[in-house]
Amino acid sequence: MAYRYNHILIRYGELSLKGKNRNTFIKQLKKNMKAALKTFPSLVFDAQHDRMYIYLNGEDAKQVCDIVSKVFGISSLSLAIKVESDMEEIKKACMESLDFSTFKTFKVAARRSDKTFPYISDQINRMVATEILKNTEWKVNVKNPDVKIIVEVHHDGTYIMTDRIEGAGGFPVGCGGKAMALLSGGIDSPVATYLMMKRGVHIECIHYASPPYTSQAAQDKVLELARLISGYQGEILVHVVPFTNLQLEIYKHADESYAITLMRRMMMRIATGLAEKRHAQAIATGESVGQVASQTLESMQAINNVTTTPIIRPLVTMDKVEIIDIARKIGTFETSILPLEDCCTIFTPKNPVTKPKIEKCQRYESRFDWESLVQECIDNAQQVWISPVKQEETLEEDLF
Ligand code: ATP
Ligand code: MG
Repeated sequence: MAYRYNHILIRYGELSLKGKNRNTFIKQLKKNMKAALKTFPSLVFDAQHDRMYIYLNGEDAKQVCDIVSKVFGISSLSLAIKVESDMEEIKKACMESLDFSTFKTFKVAARRSDKTFPYISDQINRMVATEILKNTEWKVNVKNPDVKIIVEVHHDGTYIMTDRIEGAGGFPVGCGGKAMALLSGGIDSPVATYLMMKRGVHIECIHYASPPYTSQAAQDKVLELARLISGYQGEILVHVVPFTNLQLEIYKHADESYAITLMRRMMMRIATGLAEKRHAQAIATGESVGQVASQTLESMQAINNVTTTPIIRPLVTMDKVEIIDIARKIGTFETSILPLEDCCTIFTPKNPVTKPKIEKCQRYESRFDWESLVQECIDNAQQVWISPVKQEETLEEDLF
């Protein structure tokens, strides 16, 4: 059987457009790839100006590909056989890279970047095609082949590839600064978090828990969601905020219809404090215009009013169906729909205000000392590191 693949060739994504920042992006991508693949110690990484090569060095090609295809900043990847730039070696490797047990049509697409190689690309195409035609039943189909055999002749050797696997797109995580994503147990916030990561933003999550009104199981569900998306950035830090005292004070001092709005304002104040501590430049949420009472533009005005830190809402214009599609694709949907309570679902008022007035929010807030309660939440937040494979979490003591 064929397939003696020994390399993975990686084509950069959008970062190829970013002239000056290119080196930063390539460096970040290489770092992220190494982190994502740290359980494969034999791999050798070679990041060049327009491509990155991973020498498999005996590691399992499929397992490595599965992980690489999740890393942001890659448009596509291919399993490759690297051989000496010698026509006989190239022909042999092409034969070995293909499975001739079923009939297929093919096309050879050669590219010669090493101009000292004695044959031009068209000659390479013909020589490889002749070899295949001579030894197999396969036929050439230039317009619509079943298999496209790519032969790239570089200075350091020739790469032979037959499949192009789609990459995750986006930018390497870390290139776009840092944001605090508010992660609830719902469908939306994990999708919003994923989309932020995809644009290269490093994410730390904040979850507001209201024990004993919310259970340990509900909190574990949120950590599981964090684990499911952590693979897109390597590891993820989750800040679990004890929210109960603040929430109870809101209910004591404000009209029920304003409870959700006030809760959101407090969430933003806490997130702003944590963002400052953690040197993050933005806050991200899973809100979408009109989805629920608290997600009107008037509500967003009242919520944004308490902070100057930008609040990014990646799902703002999306329909629920579109959001669910992404949730399924990234594998969070099934966990999100597990029926567990969230702090917002427990304290949901019967008639939440859809057009909250900022002055009214401020009036309710003047009735109690929310500043010290917010500070308590920031100070008492617990930090948990989550990684894609490790099941148990580790508590982080001295982060700040
Ligand atoms: P989701 O599916 O993300 O829970 P949702 O449609 O249920 O969203 P809301 O419950 O109104 O919407 O919450 C809006 C946003 O506020 C969430 O997407 C999330 O970013 C944030 N949020 C809500 N509850 C919490 C919580 N307990 N901890 C952290 N963030 C929260
Ligand atoms: Mg929710």
